[in-house]
Amino acid sequence: MIQFQYVRTSTPKAAVDAVSKTQNARFIAGGTNLVDLMKRNIMTPEKLVDINNIPLKGIEQQGNKIVIGALALNSQVADSKLVQEKLPLLSQSLNAGASAQIRNMATVGGNMMQRTRCNYFYDTAMPCNKREPGLGCGALEGFNRMHAIFGTSEKCIAVHPSDMCIALVALDATVVAAGPKGERRIPFAEFHRLPGDTPEKDNNLMENELITAIEIPDNAFTRNVHYLKIRDRASYAFAVISVAAALHIENNTIKDARLAMGGVSHKPWRLSEAEKALIGKPASEKTFRNAAEIAMQGAKAYKHNAFKLKLGPNTIVQALKNAAEPV
Ligand code: SF4
Repeated sequence: MIQFQYVRTSTPKAAVDAVSKTQNARFIAGGTNLVDLMKRNIMTPEKLVDINNIPLKGIEQQGNKIVIGALALNSQVADSKLVQEKLPLLSQSLNAGASAQIRNMATVGGNMMQRTRCNYFYDTAMPCNKREPGLGCGALEGFNRMHAIFGTSEKCIAVHPSDMCIALVALDATVVAAGPKGERRIPFAEFHRLPGDTPEKDNNLMENELITAIEIPDNAFTRNVHYLKIRDRASYAFAVISVAAALHIENNTIKDARLAMGGVSHKPWRLSEAEKALIGKPASEKTFRNAAEIAMQGAKAYKHNAFKLKLGPNTIVQALKNAAEPV
């Protein structure tokens, strides 16, 4: 690991000022991804700005939205009575992620900032445009079983690794960020990026901006929700495919719907057209299968991940069934 400076800060402004003073500085909170990346020389910051002392751990109702501080731990959010009651989809997605130990260390902001788990990104002997732009992409012609089927580019076919973010994009969350120019809000669907020609950029945060909170508007998705994660082992594994499904059902008619997928794209993949196909229809397998077909339009498989073209729609249908009839 390289040598680096380490400073602690206790306000968002002080943290932003501290990273702004050094060219290659990073914020650190739980460190559950960043420290691994530093050990492997994939990220080599010259300065770490520890933000753990900033009071950003609140989880509270503010008017018609729930505001979650960026430093709230994944386990605190998942176990919060308010979140379990009003945002059960978010609670389910968090409990599907990582291990209990990691959920006790990882923060909401860090979860959003975690980097892809593409094996070629972590293997510094292999080419990777995300690690070093211009090197090439080892996964394109390599073992790409875990890789994307939507929104890929010739530069990168990696997937976004978070479970929490799949629920947050479905719930129309907003990201609050503090930066050198003040505070701004970013719709969650616009926070993460597709790879395009700049796969080294995971998100649309501006230089030296700090995530301070997530806002989630009140909604009617308090009962008929399900986060379904298909993975290679029962816990502590990233999604092969995941689906966040939320329905508002009255008299067996779907009044409103939210649907998003993980394990399929460089960003949390919202399925807006499939949502439209659900609204106004009976909550039946036929309706769910039709929405799943619409959801998969435009999917493109690579040599080793063609199975996702079948697994994807089946996961959507099952998640919707589970949401319609929660156990
Ligand atoms: Fe790197 Fe992206 Fe290619 Fe993986 S898919 S090797 S992260 S460029």
